[in-house]
Amino acid sequence: MSMEDKRQKYKAKQNECVLMARVSSRDQEVEGYSLPAQVRLLKDYCLRKDLAVLKIFQISESASGKKQRELFNEVVSYIAENKANVLVCEKVDRLTRNFKDAVMIDDWLEEDEKHEVHLVKDSLIMHKHSRSQEKLNWGLRVLFAKNTIDNLREEVDKGVREKLEQGWLPGKPLVGYKTVGDSGHKIHVPDPQMGPLMREAFELYDSGNYSIKLLVKTMDEKGLRTHFGRPLVKSQMHRMLSNPFYMGKMTWKGRLYDGKHEPLITAELFERVQQRMKRKTTPKYAKHNPVFKGTMRCAECGGTIAWETQREHWYGHCNHFKPCNQKAYVRQEAAEKQLLKEFSELVSPSPDVIEWVKVTLRTKYEADMEARTALKKQLKDRHSQLGRRMDVLYEDRLDGRISVHQYDKMQQQASNEQKMIAQKLEDFEEDYLAVLEKGIDILDLSQKAAAIYESKNDTDRRAILRDLFSNIRLNGNLIEVERSPLVAAIAKKVKKEKELRNTFEQTVNNSLTEEEFVNGTLSPLWLGIIAEVKHLMISSPQTAAYVS
Ligand SMILES: [Zn+2]
Repeated sequence: MSMEDKRQKYKAKQNECVLMARVSSRDQEVEGYSLPAQVRLLKDYCLRKDLAVLKIFQISESASGKKQRELFNEVVSYIAENKANVLVCEKVDRLTRNFKDAVMIDDWLEEDEKHEVHLVKDSLIMHKHSRSQEKLNWGLRVLFAKNTIDNLREEVDKGVREKLEQGWLPGKPLVGYKTVGDSGHKIHVPDPQMGPLMREAFELYDSGNYSIKLLVKTMDEKGLRTHFGRPLVKSQMHRMLSNPFYMGKMTWKGRLYDGKHEPLITAELFERVQQRMKRKTTPKYAKHNPVFKGTMRCAECGGTIAWETQREHWYGHCNHFKPCNQKAYVRQEAAEKQLLKEFSELVSPSPDVIEWVKVTLRTKYEADMEARTALKKQLKDRHSQLGRRMDVLYEDRLDGRISVHQYDKMQQQASNEQKMIAQKLEDFEEDYLAVLEKGIDILDLSQKAAAIYESKNDTDRRAILRDLFSNIRLNGNLIEVERSPLVAAIAKKVKKEKELRNTFEQTVNNSLTEEEFVNGTLSPLWLGIIAEVKHLMISSPQTAAYVS
């Protein structure tokens, strides 16, 4: 390839761009603001600017928020994968709909000085070295775009509130109801077919002869259908039975409103059904927060793993704030299952040894404390001695017994030593007993983690994760953990212990008893853990993390 060819190729590469068109549902009603019109505008621009279009993305805001986010992420990953340098868009508010998007675009610009965002109608080209004035301009437009969206949301909220105050539920009707009336004056009335069936569902459940599961099956046979013509699933049935709309009330964002609609059931029936549902075991999905909230990161980009519910289960995935190829959605239960395996690797086959380690730790701690108290006294004595010396030095200096130079030098020495001692004394003030207890707690926890994890609530689970692991990452469907220092040491010992135990049990002419094996072989092995806990007690930065 000649130099000229290379240059041509490089040039061509540099001029490749991706178009992104986006319209809101409101835009679509106005002529000239359709997606095709926007794409035409962008294409014309590219022609003028000699930009080769690699791909055109079109995002319509009539799509769900989730779908829109996916599309935007697709745009960003497409650009990254195909190494396009230019992204062309109509205006800032077409490009970014939220700060997340804006930050992603900003990161991309910062990544490479060849990267550019062309905002056709804003007459703005953004790149890494944009002038500060342009950056400010961009920043303001991002802010403005956000503000426009917030305003829209407020307007929607206002409309929703007004409708609620008037006694009508905004949005789609519930199963058993249908919508009548013109646009802007729509109300919900009982559906002649589904209404009575929904009432029957309440009555059957109230009889006490039906579980939700059986009720779902029975109502399916009787012909109860959602608005999409599908039978209700268990979670839907549960939601319907819990919705006070059926007795004439409405809930919206946690607030209860009086409804003007015709109720299908009485308040008494509704109340009885609630009581009966409460008596049943709480459904296993009734968790408000995912266990791993804020504790897991993407192995590829380091982003926080975001959790969302789908069909009563939590699913985690990379938040894709930064371009990242991780696509997996991992179910919380699947992640927990992998953790249980991690826990099992921390369990010593000899509970006796663990007990021995704990006792030894406490004994050693007491001995240490005696030594430390003695040392502390020595340091304090030395500190006051230095103070007295400095007083004497000062008098010597005044009386001319030593020169200014000598005084400065000696005074400095004494003062430095005093500062050092003060620092050491401060270190002593740390709560070493708390560190020891924390060390012992973690040792205990490591042995019972699986059981505690399975029996306790989510708060305890999070505490376990926090204490045992310094990092939890999601890589594809796999959970990767980084153990905290003490836990890493425990895992190492357990592994070694299992090897030793294997050899011990396979030795045919075994003259050792289990007790002798534990005392003679395992105890020395586990002595290392004592050193680890003591290390925690000595090294203050890590100590702080454990004490808190
Ligand atoms: Zn990621």
